[in-house]
Amino acid sequence: MRIILLGPPGSGKGTQAQRLVQRYRIIQLSTGEMLRAAVAAGSPVGLRAKDIMAGGGLVPDDIVVGVIADRIEQPDARNGFILDGFPRTVPQAEALDDLLKHKHMKLDAVVELRVNESALLQRVETRVAEMRARGEEVRVDDTPEVLTKRLATYRSLTEPLIHYYSERRKLLTVDGMMTIEQVTREIGRILAAIGAVDSTPAKKPAPVKRGGTGTAGKAVRRGSRSSAVGSRSAKKAAKAVRKVGKRPAKRSKKAARKVGRKVAKKGARRVTKRRAKA
Ligand code: AMP
Repeated sequence: MRIILLGPPGSGKGTQAQRLVQRYRIIQLSTGEMLRAAVAAGSPVGLRAKDIMAGGGLVPDDIVVGVIADRIEQPDARNGFILDGFPRTVPQAEALDDLLKHKHMKLDAVVELRVNESALLQRVETRVAEMRARGEEVRVDDTPEVLTKRLATYRSLTEPLIHYYSERRKLLTVDGMMTIEQVTREIGRILAAIGAVDSTPAKKPAPVKRGGTGTAGKAVRRGSRSSAVGSRSAKKAAKAVRKVGKRPAKRSKKAARKVGRKVAKKGARRVTKRRAKA
């Protein structure tokens, strides 16, 4: 399985990626973490990235694309990966398309974690306070000022990817304001609906502390259309699986994919419609 987690800073991408790693035994590729490691190591990439990251800007496309291109070459990426924080611009998405095409790899889905922006600042402040209380080192770009800049960067450079992937029928939107557990469940459900994963996960994820890693600290259940679509489609996919006769494994996956694509299509249309209205 190859998926992208898309969402603004503080939307819970990192937390959800870790849970997916445990559940489906694939690796997480976080460009933010890779760049922080490069900065800590004082490598040439780190030296170029350091000040940009501290200011909340984006590191140039050629650098991050190079980092990702090298990383997906590694043997541990062969079984699949979750891209967390990449791509962040349309040129990065185009470069990723080329990379995957070149390697005959297919992207299964882009999962957008949709969150209420006004809650993000509060979330990050809570996360920072908790980290300080635990005596942990706080990221230099986790201050309210830099976060405001990171959000603005997200809106202008990364949000266009929602349209990019919805046009390509890859976008699945999840209500990121639900609890960590609910978001995980919903992601699992929609990935199963499109046939990207088995509906029986390898391992249950370990409980994650609330608010500690950037996801919702509170259960704020909003009427998420895509959540509803996800659950309906999962039922449809299950029904399709039950209907299948002689060749269950192959045909059920096919049926699930068919239903899932419909969901992605519907979801994409909805998102585009909503964006057009906004
Ligand atoms: P993150 O840990 O994903 O919040 O990323 C931290 C910082 O690393 C970002 O604010 C950017 O400065 C940089 N960064 C991470 N991923 C990318 C990317 N795909 N493109 C450009 N800059 C990135």
